[in-house]
Amino acid sequence: MAVPFRRTSKTRKRLRRTHFKLQVPGMVECPDCGEMKISHRVCKNCGSYKGKEVKSSN
Ligand SMILES: [Zn+2]
Repeated sequence: MAVPFRRTSKTRKRLRRTHFKLQVPGMVECPDCGEMKISHRVCKNCGSYKGKEVKSSN
């Protein structure tokens, strides 16, 4: 089994991780309020889905 010849430096490790996604895939911006929400789900912030469909109790 191949073994790394050199220890990965902090810089190398961090550079690699710059490409890591910051958020869970499937997050989209709400067309109503602009907050990030999970796609195909009701927006937590404004309680809308495809226009004004759902009203949360608050
Ligand atoms: Zn919203």
